[in-house]
Formats: sequence, structure tokens, C-alpha cells
Amino acid sequence: NGFIKLGLAPELIAAVADLGFTQPTTVQEKVVPIAMGEEGAARFVDLMVSSQTGSGKTAAFLLPVLHTLLKRQAEAEAEAKAEFQRLAAEAAARGEAPPKKPKRKDPTNARHFKAATPGALILCPTRELAQQVAHDAIELVRHCRGLRIANVVGGMPYQLQIAKLQNADLVVATPGRLLDLQRSQQLKLDQVKFLVVDEADRMLDLGFSDDLAEVNQLTIERQQTMMFSATFAPRIQQLAQRVMREPQRITI
Ligand code: AMP
Repeated sequence: NGFIKLGLAPELIAAVADLGFTQPTTVQEKVVPIAMGEEGAARFVDLMVSSQTGSGKTAAFLLPVLHTLLKRQAEAEAEAKAEFQRLAAEAAARGEAPPKKPKRKDPTNARHFKAATPGALILCPTRELAQQVAHDAIELVRHCRGLRIANVVGGMPYQLQIAKLQNADLVVATPGRLLDLQRSQQLKLDQVKFLVVDEADRMLDLGFSDDLAEVNQLTIERQQTMMFSATFAPRIQQLAQRVMREPQRITI
């Protein structure tokens, strides 16, 4: 499978194979390795990518984001395990029973509710696109234990969306509903490390400029931003300047 050489996690290679993808498309081949970054690199690179619908751009941003989320999840689990073993060894040295493993909280129990804190956010201009991207993401994480995707779009019942948001690692959203949930404190964006703006040109056409500025401020601690757009018109470049750090340009 041609995706192996991109350096993706085996869970993701298995998912693209299930989807019948045998070779990465041009945009995937160019974007995925740069977006994932080299092992030990000081920081992630911001990317500004020109690409059309149908080029395979969705997987081009989903795969590196999911890869990095997976890697971080594995690191966090290893740390938690080491900490548990350390506590168990200490308890044993004192002749005590080992500590209990913490139980997973039940998100449907109101007492356990806390604001969702996703690590990655993908913004789309329309509900249809956000649903398509979330659908693709769900297919790509089918072999990843415990990576959760939530879709946040207008026109869906709030309660259902809020329940699904709990424990979400990646949120795929349209700006309006996202900011609604943020303002009502169902969702906090300060843990977002990766931000993708899909179809940035349509985002501006639809009047989301102020919303983008707000999301930019709310996720100011993020480590990487990727913008995808059909064109590099001057207004897109201005937006890129505002939300990215020395972005690398990729033209397909
Ligand atoms: P997109 O440009 O992201 O809207 O993708 C267009 C279509 O191409 C979608 O239906 C994808 O499932 C499909 N696709 C994406 N990447 C590949 C690939 N590497 N090989 C075959 N099909 C793909």
C-alpha cells in the first residue's frame, strides 16, 4: 500500500486500505509528511494548501491530524500506566493493596458533565461539508481505539450534540454552532493544538471572517494551523497572514 511510505500509524494505514485507497493522491503525498512533521522537530509547520474538491484533500488534513492525536494518546497512556505502576510499587512496599484504577466517567450522567476540550478542530463553511468531513474522519479512526470524533453543526438538536461532544478528541464544525457552544461553556477551545480551515475561500464568501478571527483568538495556544482553499486570492493570503506563522505553501 502506497500510504506506508508516508509514515502513518498502522491503524490509519489499515483504515485507508479498508476504504480501498491504494495510492495517496498528489495533495496527500505532498501534505501528509510535512504536516506530521519530522521526528524530533522543534515545532509543527503551518500549511496553506490550494486544492480542489475531489483531489483527496479531506484525507490530506485528516490523516496527519489523526496520526498526531494517536501518538499523543499513546504517550499519555504510557505515562498513566507508568504512574500507576509506580503507585502500586510504593503501596506494595508499604504492605498496602494497590491503588484502584480510575473509572471512566459516564458522559450521560449530569454529575459527570464538564466542558468538552478537544485537541483538534476542523472548521468547514457549510453543514453538508462538515458532515462529510466528520463522516470521513469516523471511517479513518475505525481501527483507532478511543479516538472520538464529534460533529458540531447548526440545525441539529443541542442536547444530542453536547452529549456527543463529551470526550471528543477531534471536532468538525461550522463556525456559528461552534461559537454558540463555546459561549454557553459546553465547549472549551483552549486545548486545541491543531486547527484546520477547510475551503477558506468559501468561508470568507459566507461571511465567516469575524468568526474565524474569534476562533483564532480562542485557540491561540495551538501548535499547527492548516488552511485549504481553491485559490490564493489576496483576501485569502491576508487571512493566512493573520492566522498562521510563516506558512508553507503547497500548490496542487
Ligand atoms: P475530497 O477531495 O477529500 O473530497 O475526496 C474526493 C474523493 O476521493 C472522496 O470520495 C474520497 O473518498 C476519495 N479519495 C481520497 N483519497 C483517495 C485515495 N488516495 N485513493 C482513492 N480515493 C481517494
